[in-house]
Amino acid sequence: MSERPQPLKAINRLFEGKEPWQIVTMTASSVLAIVFAHSLYNAQESLTTRLRKEFFRWLRQVPIVRRKIEEKMSEINSDFRRDVAKRLAGVTLRRELPDIGLSHEQIIEEINDHVNLGAYDWKNGSVSGAVYHVSQEISKIACEAYTLTAYTNPLHADVFPGINKMEAEVVRMAINLFHGDEDCCGTVTTGGTESIIMACKAFRDLAYSRGISHPQIVVPSTVHSAFDKAAQYLGLSVKTVPVNPDTMTVDVDKVRKAIGRRTCLIVGSAPNYPYGTMDDIIALSELAAEYDVPLHVDACLGGFVAAFMTDAGHHVPVFDFRLPGVASISADTHKYGFAPKGTSVILYRKPEYRHHQYTVTTEWPGGVYGSPTVNGSRAGGLIAACWATMMFVGKSRYVEMTDQIIKTARFIENELRKIQGMFVFGKPATSVIAWGSNQFDIFKMAEHLHKKGWALNALQFPSGVHICVTHAHTQAGVAERFVADVKEVAAICLKDNASPVQGKMAIYGVAQEISDRSLVSDITKYFIDSMYYLPKPEDAEK
Ligand SMILES: *Cc1c(COP(=O)(O)O)cnc(C)c1O
Repeated sequence: MSERPQPLKAINRLFEGKEPWQIVTMTASSVLAIVFAHSLYNAQESLTTRLRKEFFRWLRQVPIVRRKIEEKMSEINSDFRRDVAKRLAGVTLRRELPDIGLSHEQIIEEINDHVNLGAYDWKNGSVSGAVYHVSQEISKIACEAYTLTAYTNPLHADVFPGINKMEAEVVRMAINLFHGDEDCCGTVTTGGTESIIMACKAFRDLAYSRGISHPQIVVPSTVHSAFDKAAQYLGLSVKTVPVNPDTMTVDVDKVRKAIGRRTCLIVGSAPNYPYGTMDDIIALSELAAEYDVPLHVDACLGGFVAAFMTDAGHHVPVFDFRLPGVASISADTHKYGFAPKGTSVILYRKPEYRHHQYTVTTEWPGGVYGSPTVNGSRAGGLIAACWATMMFVGKSRYVEMTDQIIKTARFIENELRKIQGMFVFGKPATSVIAWGSNQFDIFKMAEHLHKKGWALNALQFPSGVHICVTHAHTQAGVAERFVADVKEVAAICLKDNASPVQGKMAIYGVAQEISDRSLVSDITKYFIDSMYYLPKPEDAEK
């Protein structure tokens, strides 16, 4: 026998004295094992998550468990529907196209009836976030712009070159606010979620172009759920990095450890939605440069506040294109840009990134079809309304309103810090203040505050509530009334922390305790169903 290299000798020893069928079986099963291991490594979910899901899926197939769950789900579903029927009491329910169109007056009257449904006084500062409504004046100009352009479609550049120009100007103004250079570029989208999906698409495709086959995004646990949605739509896997429990900002060392061969994007929030804290974008930018991975800064919520804070005399850390690692920024014009709902911007450092955002179809019988964002036909009216808002408000008024919002937020933060029994999470970076309690059930507090007419946002993992201060809260007396109510409720909660939480707030407490997350997901789907539930006229009477 001639001399063979070492590894071959080892293989020969392994198969020595084996029958041919044994050799074939051993080879096949080891190949299968390698394929399986590889699929685990590239999986979109960790092994423990998948095992856990399998377990609960198995459990839910046990007949008695299944029956119990079905009963409970149907109960929950009818509860949701009952709530909807209650909320819609008093308005005309329509199931058919009217035979003859209604009159102008009748339609306006019905629209007013619809806008006024709902339990909260949303124009006067009772609601956290959600409505960034400012003034009749601003809404008037935005709506007039919409009236003039509602039927335009910037997908057809030759027909509506002026709408394209307005979009380009919105993008450029935003780039300049975030200190981008001439190479920076972007698009207007229909909202923060679309901006985020677009950034994930761009950097997924950039990764594909570099030969990465199963790209992964690395995000803080507090990042907006739109990243999870983007990952679901785009087939990305998500690596979630915990935040430091004291600062509530992402643990940068753990981000470093999470970066790997498949990483196509790392993300920081400026600030994040739940706790309103800003991740250390400076440190993340350094990591991004060191590992040559793109960093996206999600400034959807705070972008149009943070951009004006320095001029308004308030401190804000650098979070924008001044940091070399920042590859893209999302910022919502329909939040603190004060434009009507339906616009946001996604900005990139380089044209190459934006190219990866586009989709182009070259073989379609309808022609070569290229489009920048998710939409095909696009609402030129929303772009014009956004443009008109920015033109009308102008820099000095944005600065002034930012000052009012931040002063109000700081006032609320300082007052909340003085209240016994509760604590503020981390350091609120812009306009969101989150707090929790170690001495009473925070959802009990939220329930009491709801009864007093305050619509706040409930947080989980860890439990808390937050208020997102908008221009509506800067009106005289609103913040003082809010602080006084929290103070009063805190005293009540400290005295009585035994009685269980009731009503809608109870759901948040309970939802965190359910270890089978597929149940929570199913309940949520019924809730979404209920948004599309239209009671039959006879049911609405009950
Ligand atoms: C609101 C928000 C988003 C998503 O924006 P939508 O306009 O609601 O789609 C993303 N990130 C943060 C931090 C947000 O607050």
